Amino acid sequence: MDGLLIQRASRVQLLLAGAAALLILLALVAASPRASLPLPAVVPFMPMCALTVFTTAGIAAYLLGAQFHATRQPMLGALSGAYAFTALAVALQLLMFPGVFTPAGLFGANPHSAAWMWVYWHGGFPFFVIVAVLARDRLQARLFAARQAGWWKLVLVGGPVLAAALLGLLAVHTREAPDFGLPDHVAGVIAYRTATVVWLLNALAVTIVILGGRLRAVLDLWLAIAVLACFTDTTLNLLSPARFTLGWYLARLFSMLAPGVLVCALVWEVTALYGRLFAAHASLLQASMHDALTGVYNRSYFDVEYRRELERSAHGGQQLSLLMIDVDDFKRYNDTYGHWKGDQCLAAVAHALASVVRRGPDFVARYGGEEFALVLPATDEQAALAVAERARQAVARLRLEVPAGIGHVTVSVGCATRAVGASDPPEQLIQAADTALYEAKSAGRNCVRFAEAPA
Ligand code: GH3
Ligand code: MG
Ligand code: MG
Repeated sequence: MDGLLIQRASRVQLLLAGAAALLILLALVAASPRASLPLPAVVPFMPMCALTVFTTAGIAAYLLGAQFHATRQPMLGALSGAYAFTALAVALQLLMFPGVFTPAGLFGANPHSAAWMWVYWHGGFPFFVIVAVLARDRLQARLFAARQAGWWKLVLVGGPVLAAALLGLLAVHTREAPDFGLPDHVAGVIAYRTATVVWLLNALAVTIVILGGRLRAVLDLWLAIAVLACFTDTTLNLLSPARFTLGWYLARLFSMLAPGVLVCALVWEVTALYGRLFAAHASLLQASMHDALTGVYNRSYFDVEYRRELERSAHGGQQLSLLMIDVDDFKRYNDTYGHWKGDQCLAAVAHALASVVRRGPDFVARYGGEEFALVLPATDEQAALAVAERARQAVARLRLEVPAGIGHVTVSVGCATRAVGASDPPEQLIQAADTALYEAKSAGRNCVRFAEAPA
């Protein structure tokens, strides 16, 4: 079960993702020329965004990791790693940020450590997404065949986490600032080495996700939005690295979108999958209880429910009646009209029998061949005989032509009732109803006979 990887995106999802992509690009185009526009300083904005990214990226990593565990699809594992990397990188950036937890930042951070963590976060996420897309086809066969699947899990998910931790160490020990300075137009950004690498990695991730999955599967579609959000975040931030500018604020909003969009898509898909599973289970259950030809309950349902109703009646100190019903001269009917018409006749008879079963606990089941059983809990002899007669008449009223040309298809009915307090085995009541049925046959068919169930 590849689940999310092969689950085709619906038309609505394509439209929604298209609208989201358009909005992101519009925001990028509209904000780029004004990226350095200073806005009022809202100091808690950065920690709030970082905390949101940390939480949502953590949830995305967990959900993708769970999907990876269930499906063993390497792409899901690698994506889980990409989001785990993001969660750790953003957490480290927040902890190292001057003035958030301590004036200089934690872990002995220098004034440039947080900027370097930003670089690693925005370069690392697209890098690991690219690895995930490439892992889709390359690793598949190896992972399934490998006895060392556990190692692959560790590499795909644990590798990026370890990378984030090592880059954190590097950020603490790098003394000079990342060389993206304060350019305020795209050409200026490209001139700087670090900025170029980070920006190109983002552009490459967008291209590879779009080309690699061609946006057919649900995951490819929303992953494309996630990398597009990261690309926009990176571009706006590089255009305006100074804090509290239009570009800086917008970049932070898009940084929250990158993991958020995937969490929403994953939760939506898993919930939808649960719904489909529930419906499939319900229809399987329904099919397993019913007879395919006649639509009434089948023999297995009868075997279980008849015993259950017997026990319930015994506990409740009530009687239970059983009717065994057999179509008369059905062999001749089949021999004359063929099995296809015979089948239609059986379905019509079953429908007529079901129409006389009106109370909740009563039920009709196909006992086998052209025999049906009616189980009537809390029903005494008189009431059972009345139902039996109604069943016989309901079949006669169908007026299904018989081979001889005179009369119509009929049934014979044998009734038996288990007395209150009786403890005989369930088979005994069936045998008693069967004996009564053969009496009805001997009496000329198309009639009802009653047998006293032995106490
Ligand atoms: P009686 O009145 O004594 O019950 O005679 P009968 O001919 O009905 O009884 P018999 O047991 O000799 O024949 C039952 C026939 O029911 C034979 C079998 O081909 C037919 N039958 C059983 N199940 C099906 C089914 O699912 N479809 C069709 N078309 N025929 C069935
Ligand atoms: Mg029979
Ligand atoms: Mg018969």
